[in-house]
Amino acid sequence: MPIKKHDRAKISEGDIVLGLMQQQSLLISHLIEFAHRHHGDGEVVSRRVEGDIHRYTWSDVSHRAKQVANALDDSHVAFGARVATLAWNGYRHLELYFGVSGSGRVLHTINPRLHPEQIAWITNHAEDQVLCFDMTFLPIIEAIHSKCKSIIQWVAMCDADKLPSGTNIPNLVSYEAWIGKKSASYQWPNFDENTASSMCYSSGTTGNPKAALYSHRSTLLHAYAAALPDVMGISARDAILPVVPMFHVNAWGIPYSAALTGAKLVFPGAGMDGKSIYELIESERVTYAAGVPTVWQMLLTHMKAAGLKFSTLNRTVIGGSACPPAMIQTFREDYGVEVLHAWGMTEMSPLGTLCTLKNKHLKLSESDQMKIRLKQGRAIFGVDMKIVDDAGIDLPHDGKSFGDLWVKGPWVVADYFKSEGGPPLLKDSDGVSWFPTGDVATIDNDGYMQITDRSKDVIKSGGEWISSIDIENIAVAHPSILMAACIGVQHPKWDERPIVVVVKKPETQLTREELLAFYAGKTAKWQIPDDVVFVDSIPIGATGKMLKTKLREQLKDYVLPNL
Ligand code: ADP
Repeated sequence: MPIKKHDRAKISEGDIVLGLMQQQSLLISHLIEFAHRHHGDGEVVSRRVEGDIHRYTWSDVSHRAKQVANALDDSHVAFGARVATLAWNGYRHLELYFGVSGSGRVLHTINPRLHPEQIAWITNHAEDQVLCFDMTFLPIIEAIHSKCKSIIQWVAMCDADKLPSGTNIPNLVSYEAWIGKKSASYQWPNFDENTASSMCYSSGTTGNPKAALYSHRSTLLHAYAAALPDVMGISARDAILPVVPMFHVNAWGIPYSAALTGAKLVFPGAGMDGKSIYELIESERVTYAAGVPTVWQMLLTHMKAAGLKFSTLNRTVIGGSACPPAMIQTFREDYGVEVLHAWGMTEMSPLGTLCTLKNKHLKLSESDQMKIRLKQGRAIFGVDMKIVDDAGIDLPHDGKSFGDLWVKGPWVVADYFKSEGGPPLLKDSDGVSWFPTGDVATIDNDGYMQITDRSKDVIKSGGEWISSIDIENIAVAHPSILMAACIGVQHPKWDERPIVVVVKKPETQLTREELLAFYAGKTAKWQIPDDVVFVDSIPIGATGKMLKTKLREQLKDYVLPNL
């Protein structure tokens, strides 16, 4: 039989031979069904807002998620309608993750640290129909409920007897009264896997907040990928503490990957301070934790002061902003905990890269391995990435050339909800669409990506670029420095020069000159900051990251020395 010449450009329908495998949509309800059937007695432990510890199983989550679905049906919330949460990490929030999305509604997790006006704006933009809130946030709801036009049902996430009296919030019900009497039997509906499942607004530091609208398919693919050994490496033997909030890009997908693997989940509730986190890690024998650097800084400070050690924690994923080398070192050397540096964003569900070594790196010295661990890591299968110059032309992956980082893949946004802010994708010279991340990075020939900076934070001095992350990393390696932020300040000759704004550790002495001297030999001379500004605190944004926009505003009258 003559072999047909393959013509890439033309695939006619007649040429296609379909595989003979079953068609099954990838749906979030399958995750909770699986966890119930195969890991039914697996534990989910939560520190409640009330302060006590709540303990139950994946089967309980499954039953109560079905009660949530029945409650939504009875409240006449339509398929595809948005159900919002304003809540900490806890078991009721987890039930909503599965009950809302599993029944075909869209879970909209709102960041409670946003300004109340912004929260009201977001609920109107999302057209939320139900809003479930932890009692901590009652004052916010009292302040904004009359502005939230689309909400037909307010749900206080508490027991029936704890429902606040004397509030004028309309249609307010306690979570337990709302779901308590509903049947725990529910047939999860089957639908297209591209159906929207959840949404998350980015912080909106420029313009209005914009929402990524995730699908069942993108969420399940991300959940599979996140659990891989070279990604988060999650297994049924793990007890995971997601300190990263469930309102921050679905706690980096951990609730879904935990259901997929049957891992134990431990939720910190509102207790994000070092002492509370440490106690939970020890009492629940947590093996694995995830969060942004600022949270770990509080934990390490508490542990150092109290002379504590971990007995079970063996690894932690740190991302959301650059993890300072000093933190990776302290975790490894002082506490025997492996740090997995991760990079991602709201628009990427969020995982893009994670830093684990390759086989060939195992024979390297500890210090050479450390140079790799500091990078943001290798692309996860499912994420394509490249760096380009200002004209969108590909730059080499040589570990030196740096440019705008572009990504694409099945869990990367194609557009924002309601096309807010216009189309986000850009085309490369081959006409292929990519999402420009707004980060500037290098990629080496082993595929390890390193963020140089956010494009809006990079300092342009005399036509050269200075990475604010590098300058901050050196400062926080100094034993007297707790936090550091590097920003650019206008300069008549060089356009911009870096200064470093620092918070000292309590009861330490350090002068400007001593810190500047500390930079000698650690970076090129022209990259050393022109000045050190000591402050009591650096503003932190809603997702635990340093707010450089606010810092720049605070220092708007600052003048460089020697000008
Ligand atoms: P926002 O901070 O705007 O609310 P995200 O939480 O989605 O939104 O943040 C994504 C951004 O955070 C990335 O584009 C990148 O600039 C930064 N980021 C995330 N992880 C890291 C990391 N490991 N190192 C450096 N920057 C990071």
